[in-house]
Amino acid sequence: MPALNATQPPFGLMQDWPLTVDRVLEHARVNHGHREIVSRSVEGPIVRETYADLYARARQVSTALLEDCVQPGDRIATLAWNGARHMEIWFGAMGIGAVLHTVNPRLFPEQIAWIINDAGDTHLFFDLTFLPIVEQLVEKCPSVRRWVLLTDEAHAPPAGKIPNLAIYEGFIAGKSCEVTWGDFDERTAAGLCYTSGTTGNPKGVLYSHRSNVLHSLTSLQRDSLGFSVDDVIMPIVPLFHANAWGITFSAPAVGAKLVMPGSKMDGPSIYELMDAEKVTFSAAVPTVWLMLKQYLEETGKKLPHLDRIVVAGSAVPEAILRSYEDDYGVKVFHAWGMTEMSPLGSMGATTPEFREQGKDAVQRNKLKQGRPSFGVEMKIVDDNGNELPRDGKTTGHLVVRGPAIAGAYFKNAGGNILDKDGYFDTGDVAHMCPLGYMQITDRAKDVIKSGGEWISSIDIENIAVGHPAVANAAAIGLAHPKWDERPLLVIELKPGQSASREDILGFLTGKIAKWWMPDDVAFVEKIPLGATGKLNKLQLRQTFRGYTWPEQAVAAR
Ligand code: ADP
Repeated sequence: MPALNATQPPFGLMQDWPLTVDRVLEHARVNHGHREIVSRSVEGPIVRETYADLYARARQVSTALLEDCVQPGDRIATLAWNGARHMEIWFGAMGIGAVLHTVNPRLFPEQIAWIINDAGDTHLFFDLTFLPIVEQLVEKCPSVRRWVLLTDEAHAPPAGKIPNLAIYEGFIAGKSCEVTWGDFDERTAAGLCYTSGTTGNPKGVLYSHRSNVLHSLTSLQRDSLGFSVDDVIMPIVPLFHANAWGITFSAPAVGAKLVMPGSKMDGPSIYELMDAEKVTFSAAVPTVWLMLKQYLEETGKKLPHLDRIVVAGSAVPEAILRSYEDDYGVKVFHAWGMTEMSPLGSMGATTPEFREQGKDAVQRNKLKQGRPSFGVEMKIVDDNGNELPRDGKTTGHLVVRGPAIAGAYFKNAGGNILDKDGYFDTGDVAHMCPLGYMQITDRAKDVIKSGGEWISSIDIENIAVGHPAVANAAAIGLAHPKWDERPLLVIELKPGQSASREDILGFLTGKIAKWWMPDDVAFVEKIPLGATGKLNKLQLRQTFRGYTWPEQAVAAR
């Protein structure tokens, strides 16, 4: 620890305590050592370990990596589900100054190979599920000198095509826990996560120890995630999706019990684990909550232990919000963020002003993406970067800055990404109200521009999924002879349900402005989702390119 500099009056005289993530787990070991991390293992059984176990095993990972000649700054990749082993690798790699790189297994193998090569990963730890993907990667990823299969000898497959394969339990068995963690600059790189690359190649976001610790501290504010030692937290959001929204750090920071769903992401499995472990808090994208809601409706089951959920990644549909709150007594918090923001940017906690207006006002306001926590500065700007009024209707580009927000991409991909005042353009289009609530109306690249005016595809979709027969909805802008673009509403129906174009348009009538009304409705078997579970509008726009609008729709406008 550097000596205190008592001789220079401008400096305070407090201890210099670098904000490195190993301290979070050290805190959990000392103060919450007995609290559990419960994981549904890929092999099948439910596995229980404590924060003390996690700490010891993570240190064994560190020793194993050091013995395998891992240097500070080397990238250690994972292709893994949420589970304690995955967390051991996080802390084991980060603790010694290596960079933990979570890779999204839902990408195509070619994209995964591209990302691994761009990152120059030296090690890749992977779950059994991903063996077929890894077999395709081996030839294509020369920087990876060790592949580590996350299982024990008993479950390891017969020797196959993967050279330098280690079996995780053997890799760390008997390794020493006597290893030095931290003791480096808090700005040292800790984690790497690629954006999904829906426009151009994916770009790496390189988190630092400091940004991760600050993000955890800010997310622990009561109007943000607000965790407590009483919480039993199930991150359904994967660890490979933007740091699992920081839960891997914020849960140990307060000693909350963790429940990890592993590879079983279906309604019955999630429900079973939630119920058995009495989960009080969970976080996931809207599609997961929609799926669980369908399961609850089919079975008549309830959620007696679940106190609150965070829905983020895409906008929460009103039907989901009201159903969880009214039918199941679960408080819903709508959050917005992005990989570049570590990822939390805003949270829809209620203020006294809305509470005074009653439940309906509170719920309507919760459909907005919320307000920034301390640590995030945001504003809405026009095309020239001028700040727009917070009047709840003037829409523009959402820009942000803060200590846990990217200042550049890995290897400086894309060049300078900040404006002259240090703000990062999120690529989202939004407005803000005088109380600071921000509402996203679109992603800039998904905006529907009709006759020069923006139509919010998100609003249309969220209302459409409230129709009882609709499983999922996507509004996309397609070329139109008169208005440049008009919205087409693409609908996926629930199994066994039916609805006509007129039913859907009738359902929207009165709920959206007349000129927002989609010009047509197209029914598809399945709406394509991207690797983080969001509507893949790029694919939909390709599918419907050259769409012929119905005669009456063209004539009417
Ligand atoms: P990607 O989807 O590109 O992999 P992220 O997971 O970082 O990357 O997604 C960030 C984007 O997701 C945001 O810029 C925004 O467009 C969208 N998003 C996240 N949360 C919400 C939300 N609550 N409502 C609407 N859009 C959201």
